[in-house]
Amino acid sequence: MTRTDSTETASFDVAVVGAGPAGCAAGVFCSRADLETIVLEDGRSTLQKSAYVENYLGFPAGIEPRSLLELGREHAREAGCTLRDGRVETLSRSDDGFELRLEGASIEADAVIATSWADSDYLQDVGVSTEPEEPGPVDIVPTDGDGRTDVEGIYAAGRLTSTHHQALVAAGDGASVALTLINDVVPDFYNDWIALEGYYAHYDREVPVGVEEIDHEERTRRANRGRERLLEYFGSRDG
Ligand SMILES: Cc1cc2nc3c(=O)[nH]c(=O)nc-3n(C[C@H](O)[C@H](O)[C@H](O)COP(=O)(O)OP(=O)(O)OC[C@H]3O[C@@H](n4cnc5c(N)ncnc54)[C@H](O)[C@@H]3O)c2cc1C
Repeated sequence: MTRTDSTETASFDVAVVGAGPAGCAAGVFCSRADLETIVLEDGRSTLQKSAYVENYLGFPAGIEPRSLLELGREHAREAGCTLRDGRVETLSRSDDGFELRLEGASIEADAVIATSWADSDYLQDVGVSTEPEEPGPVDIVPTDGDGRTDVEGIYAAGRLTSTHHQALVAAGDGASVALTLINDVVPDFYNDWIALEGYYAHYDREVPVGVEEIDHEERTRRANRGRERLLEYFGSRDG
């Protein structure tokens, strides 16, 4: 980031608004597709209201909501996202895309993924349609079913689009909408997969865009690293 007249300015391919389950998942997928991604977070995910989460896949005895959020944000960082605290106050069009204004910062982005349950006010400034969720009182953002809003370049995901009110559903929706955006930018068939070296050669096929092939040694290295990261994280948490 550069600093001009005490206002930070920075440019990204994608700005994700909100770092709840939907925003973190969207950030992970965009970054892994080599899109320069910033995730902007106001610090009040709905998940913080949960006493304990017992329905997020992969945690058979449940997980503390704070841990789920911290790990999601760490995952987004690890994938390459920039995370920045702050509330997006306005969104406007710029020469090449959009400008998001936060206190002390101006962020330029070619595309925006809004996951900011329950704030859609800033989206209305650029003409994104919203509608009251029945029975209310919050406004939601209708999409085409794949996450595109009625303003080109602006996508929406998670509870903000009236998905089921569950963290796992919001995360899946964030990932799905990120893949919509990725396919809009890179129209090749895109698969975020890791396969063993030679998998595609075996089928006499080119390795598709987004797929990484690794050898056995690298697989072992990554598996050890993954285990160590979780042990380190949970080992440092109080009961
Ligand atoms: C009491 C309670 C208990 C719950 N328990 C469970 C449970 O056990 N299991 C379960 O699966 N779900 C549970 N939920 C539901 C779950 O928390 C939500 O469905 C999930 O968090 C939705 O994810 P999201 O990413 O769409 O929205 P959120 O998690 O709300 O994330 C949206 C993010 O956007 C940010 N934001 C908003 N406006 C702006 C802005 N202008 N600029 C920057 N950032 C902004 C917010 O700070 C927030 O972090 C519970 C909800 C409640 C209220």
